[in-house]
Parts: sequence; structure tokens; C-alpha cells
Amino acid sequence: MSRIQLLNPRLANQIAAGEVVERPASVVKELLENSLDAGATRVDLDVEAGGVKLIRIRDNGSGIDKDDLPLAMSRHATSKIRELEDLEKVISLGFRGEALASISSVARLTLTSATDQSNSGWQVSCEGRDMQASVKPAPHPCGTTVEMRDLFFNTPARRKFLRTEKTEFSHLEEVVKRLALSRYDVAFHLRHNNRVVHSLPPAANQLEQERRLSRVCGPAFLENALHIETEAAGLKLWGWVALPTFSRSQADMQHFFVNGRMIRDKLIAHAIRQAYRDVLFHGRHPAFVLYLELDPSIVDVNVHPTKHEVRFRDGRTVHDFIFRSLHRLLAEVRPDDQVNSAR
Ligand code: ADP
Ligand code: MG
Repeated sequence: MSRIQLLNPRLANQIAAGEVVERPASVVKELLENSLDAGATRVDLDVEAGGVKLIRIRDNGSGIDKDDLPLAMSRHATSKIRELEDLEKVISLGFRGEALASISSVARLTLTSATDQSNSGWQVSCEGRDMQASVKPAPHPCGTTVEMRDLFFNTPARRKFLRTEKTEFSHLEEVVKRLALSRYDVAFHLRHNNRVVHSLPPAANQLEQERRLSRVCGPAFLENALHIETEAAGLKLWGWVALPTFSRSQADMQHFFVNGRMIRDKLIAHAIRQAYRDVLFHGRHPAFVLYLELDPSIVDVNVHPTKHEVRFRDGRTVHDFIFRSLHRLLAEVRPDDQVNSAR
């Protein structure tokens, strides 16, 4: 017998899952992003036991055709790109076609979906080493419900790395909050162990956005935040930045989105730090929820999808724009003596 063997599909997916599926929060991230990519305007999440026992996400997006259902579960199968060139202008959150295959190799996953063409719904799940997909009819309105049960039930080594229910849930909730801040036009409902945790209606104007912000970041953030909206040379920056007096001991309330995608980037972090430099005490961190909008062709958001890094064609301009906008805003509210004492 040859010593070199092809891995069976389940095992190959389980290995890939190591990169994508770390804990319940990563499952929620992938599933929510799929719902948003499908154009959903409402998503309902039901979670049990921190997401380890159950994660059910129901959306009212485009749905998946019956014939596409088995494909949706297979690796390297995506509806979002076809050619290498598409990668350069990809605006969807996903495009690797790996999430569902990975999740279904380490948990019990079923997808139920219907499109506005189909007059009923269909359900698919994958079983065995070959991850054979079976499709059967199941009633469903237009949209998709993805149900994941018993995360890591078949990979005990990975299961051991899960923390307490409370910790896992707080990571999961963080993901939901982040996505809720990235899409004010979408309603988010989150329940944990049958208890409503978040119920966020869509927000169409600044007032409604601030209502959501207050629920997600807490009323104190909003009460101590300045609204900013400024534009220059094709760059737009808007959102809320907290007053220096609302600084934090940890960098735990910092949300920055580039074209709707949450990122953590050194260049941007530096620009913000510089803007706050004179008004924050050493070791304190600013709080902010900021949105940068620019022509998608001058920013590459797919450098490191998991690391949330981006690459700007003209980083210097972006850096200076953010620094100047925030510096100016903060200068308006700080009396000079406060500046000096903070130094
Ligand atoms: P990717 O998002 O990278 O394409 P996934 O494994 O996450 O890969 O999903 C595979 C495919 O399944 C997607 O390209 C999409 O066509 C379909 N899909 C997954 N979730 C949904 C959903 N909630 N609504 C509609 N289509 C979905
Ligand atoms: Mg996806």
C-alpha cells in the first residue's frame, strides 16, 4: 500500500477548521458575515451554553437554491468570486468558501434555506468521512437558517481549549456588537439561553444610530462622546470619539471600520494615538467608534482577513487625514490648561 494517502474530506476540513473555527465566537462571525453578504436586513441569533451547545442564525437574505445547498457545504465553494481578478474588487465579507465546510466538520451543522424563486425550503447536512450531503424538503420562508450544535463534539482535543460558558458568550457577544456597529441598516436580535440579550432595530438616522450605540457601548460612552463627520480629498471620516476624560485603562472600546469592515491597523492606531497624545495621560486609552469611507480600489482589505489589517495605496494621506480631523475636534473641547496638565 502506498505510504502517501489522500486525507478523507472530513479530516481535510477539520485541519482547515483549525484556522477558521477557534471557538463559538468564530462560528458566529462566519455565519453572520454570510447573512450580511446575502443581503439580510434582519438576523436572529439563538445561542445556548455560550454557543457550544447551539448557535442558530436565521436571516431574511437571498437564500440558497436547492441545487446549491450541497455545494455551500463543500470546501472551496463560493458564490462570491469566480476569477482571480475578482479578488481585487471583492466587497463581500467572505470569499474563501471555507467556513461552512470547516464548521460542519467539527460540529453538527444543518442549513435550511429558501429563495424567492423556490416555493418551499430545503435542508442539507453532511455526514460521515466523505461528508456526503443529504438534501430533504423543509418549509422555510425566503432566507436561511443555519443551525450548529455541539461544537467540537468529534474533536475532544479542541474542545478542551474552550473556556467557561460565560467567557465564550462574552466573546460571541463582542462579535455580534461589532457587526451591529458595522451595519446600522440591519436589525440584530440575540438570545442566550432563551433570554433576550440584544434587540437592535434598524437605525436610519443619527438619533437612531446613537440609540444603538448606547445599547452596544453603554450610555456612558455616548454621553461622553463627540460626533464627527468630515470629508477631504475623497476620504470620509465619521463616528463618535470619547472625550479624553472618558479614557479607559484598556483598549477595549475601540472600533474602527474601513468601508464597513472592522479592522485593526497599525497606521490608523498610530494616527489616533497621535491625535490624543497631548490630552491623555500615559497608559490611558481612548474610546471611539469610527468609520472611514474611501474608494475601495485604493485600499486592499484582503491582505490578512483574520488579522484585520488593511493596505492603503497612500497610507500617509490616510494617516494625516485621520490625525488632523481628530486633533482638530479634540482641540475644540480642551481648555489649554487641561492640555498642559495632561502633559
Ligand atoms: P464564503 O462566504 O467564503 O463564500 P462559506 O463557506 O461561508 O464561504 O459559504 C459558502 C456559500 O454558501 C456562500 O458563498 C454563499 O453562496 C452560501 N451561503 C452561506 N450562508 C448563506 C446565507 N446565510 N444566505 C445565503 N447564502 C449563503
Ligand atoms: Mg462566509
